[in-house]
Amino acid sequence: MGSGAGGSTPMITMVVIVFADRSPGPLAGDTCRGAGAALGHFPWYQEEQPATLKPEDSHWSVGPALLGLLPPCRKGSEDSTWGLQERKLRLILAGRTGAGKSATGNSILGQNCFFSRLGATSVTTTCEVGRCSWGELQVEVMDTPDLFSSQVPKTDPGFQERARCYLLSAPGPHAVILVTQLGRFTAQDQQALSALKDLFGDRVTARTIVLFTRKEDLAGGSVQEFVRDTDNRALRRLVAECGGRVCAFNNRAVGTEQEDQVKELLGLVKCLVGAHSGVPFTNDVYHLAQDLARRNMDQEEQERRVAKKLQDRQLGWWRWLFGVQGGRQRR
Ligand code: GDP
Ligand code: MG
Repeated sequence: MGSGAGGSTPMITMVVIVFADRSPGPLAGDTCRGAGAALGHFPWYQEEQPATLKPEDSHWSVGPALLGLLPPCRKGSEDSTWGLQERKLRLILAGRTGAGKSATGNSILGQNCFFSRLGATSVTTTCEVGRCSWGELQVEVMDTPDLFSSQVPKTDPGFQERARCYLLSAPGPHAVILVTQLGRFTAQDQQALSALKDLFGDRVTARTIVLFTRKEDLAGGSVQEFVRDTDNRALRRLVAECGGRVCAFNNRAVGTEQEDQVKELLGLVKCLVGAHSGVPFTNDVYHLAQDLARRNMDQEEQERRVAKKLQDRQLGWWRWLFGVQGGRQRR
């Protein structure tokens, strides 16, 4: 359970820097490897600070290729609490319908908590939270329905479901997992990132990890190689926008294969948590949600007020947009 340990003192951050030759080479057995290797393949990231990790570097180290781009990972005995303000970790699953969000949630939780099935329309109809423990941490994983498509204005006209999304993840997520299917990156996946930014603001990409489902289709290859070699520029751009944090899941895996992929994701989440000193993502809507909870307002009223705020915010954007355009036209 959350300890509510008040102000968090930043822990010692150890960043292992190994200045090696310019070979981008795959990174060592590090759970941040996904992110590191992926970044290594983006020339605009790679050129300034090329490096590799030493094979003996421990789990939470990052190479200089990641400096300023990926969070510094913390290591040491404090591992069990990760420097979190509370012993709770909140993750939000985002992405288009059918990408595998619910299946990924089940893999993370190690149990069938969310309903996952192939369907033309979303079989997940509302935001749901599943919980499990990782050592001393309580992990809350929020599965989402179709909140990230161009249909959202029709499916959630009153912003109720988006308000629920906020309230169920308040005071804010530590990481957002943007789920997409390996080899099937489409305009809908691009739309999912846009919708994610519309809902939480552009800064959310600094907390986003791109997770590819159907890892089995890699047939032993690495997701980093896949991202490096893809000729899908939109996919490369999306991964770059999310700081190069990538990993892959086979949601049908069992046993150690299943555990290992969860550990890899955990490594990326831990990096993010460390980089933000254990503080979750927040914005003005989360501030409102916290304020309403403090005032012990009933759930329905909280939903109504958060929905109103989201609605007003969108109206504000429209007014701003038309105002700017009007100004230009007048000149
Ligand atoms: P959601 O709409 O994003 O929540 O997607 P679901 O979790 O319901 O998954 C859609 C379909 O993809 C289901 O039939 C899942 O079993 C399947 N699926 C998800 N992940 C994987 C995976 O890693 N491998 C395979 N083979 N199928 C997957
Ligand atoms: Mg689902």
